[in-house]
Amino acid sequence: MLDIKSIRADFPILTQHVNGKPLVYFDNGATAQKPQVVIDAIAKYYEEINANIHRGVHHLSQVATDVYEESRLKIQKHLNARHSYEVLFTSGTTFGINLVANGFGQILKPGDEIIVSHLEHHSNIVPWQFAAERSGATLKVIPMNEKGELMMDEYVKLLSPNTKIVAVNHISNALGTINPIEFIIEKAHEVGAAVLIDGAQATPHLKPDVQALDCDFYVFSGHKICGPTGTGILYGKEKWLNQLPPYQGGGEMIKEVTFEKTTYACLPHKFEAGTPNIAGGIVLGVAVDYLNAIGFDNIEAYEQELLDYATKRLQEFDGIEFYGTSEHKASVISFNFTGIHPYDVGAIIDKLGVAVRTGHHCAQPIMNYFNIPGTIRASFAFYNTKEEIDIFIEALKKAKTMLS
Ligand SMILES: *Cc1c(COP(=O)(O)O)cnc(C)c1O
Repeated sequence: MLDIKSIRADFPILTQHVNGKPLVYFDNGATAQKPQVVIDAIAKYYEEINANIHRGVHHLSQVATDVYEESRLKIQKHLNARHSYEVLFTSGTTFGINLVANGFGQILKPGDEIIVSHLEHHSNIVPWQFAAERSGATLKVIPMNEKGELMMDEYVKLLSPNTKIVAVNHISNALGTINPIEFIIEKAHEVGAAVLIDGAQATPHLKPDVQALDCDFYVFSGHKICGPTGTGILYGKEKWLNQLPPYQGGGEMIKEVTFEKTTYACLPHKFEAGTPNIAGGIVLGVAVDYLNAIGFDNIEAYEQELLDYATKRLQEFDGIEFYGTSEHKASVISFNFTGIHPYDVGAIIDKLGVAVRTGHHCAQPIMNYFNIPGTIRASFAFYNTKEEIDIFIEALKKAKTMLS
């Protein structure tokens, strides 16, 4: 069981008032709030450690390098990656996917196929469109059903020896659907395709085991798991990271440079050109420690309770339409009131202190499928409470009355 009161005390921002009302933060799918240990670790880095890594012989540079590499080891352990050099620091999910898609864009050929799904965030669609354009490969899409679930029978039909890479999300940011990635990975491997999992929306709720999943790439953002913005991780299997060309050229990623030819550094440095977000990488490890101390089993169980409670309370409304009604869902609820624009609801409940996301959630194909401009999305974290859900429901009642 979680001690929610003490957990909430870790998050200074949660005591804020917005428009004179206590903040109810239900926009965790967009970014998570930061606990005090994370905030303090950022200051501590600049107060006590700041130096460039891997470059200096001097004391501070070695301390910074050690602490940065310790953070990589923590994240390796968290993901159960086989090797620490399979864990690359990035600036976030978007960067990680672009790195992999850019590499595939260079090694794919006309006739090769890339598979994404109808449920993807734009950042797991557009980089693959670039890769297809550049290489002449074809982009195929796994369709979804009215419940917002990917259609696995259709997926299996799309697979062929031409399939080279399948890129899907673990959990949908717009609908909360938990996708059957174990099955997706297994079937892709049967035809020899690699699999990239966009874990941006899964990593706040669960602890992925990349070896058990057997995925080839797993990407996520630090800011959605209580870490700093501008941080993220790309896990890649050694054999794939060796096969892909480097993404950015610069310092740190080379072995030898002459004007005629450059040879690349070994992993992970081949993909970590330039001075990284050193403070961010270190503090991402602090965020991972914080979440593991609470325990992902506890987080998952409690968030499911919040999801069930919120779903039940929302079902009290007449004229409410839910999007994403799979039985396999994380703590994200997308909905609309009949005849009312989601933005109007979001703006009114903001006046009452409640923060939700309204719009297409960077997933326009999903909105097109349902033929709507967007949804109201409430996404819950382990620091939210049922009392906050009650405040949210009361705010929605007021908004609905005003707008009907
Ligand atoms: C947030 C999100 C992204 C993009 O993450 P950034 O942190 O903006 O790079 C990609 N995919 C999913 C499923 C997301 O939720």
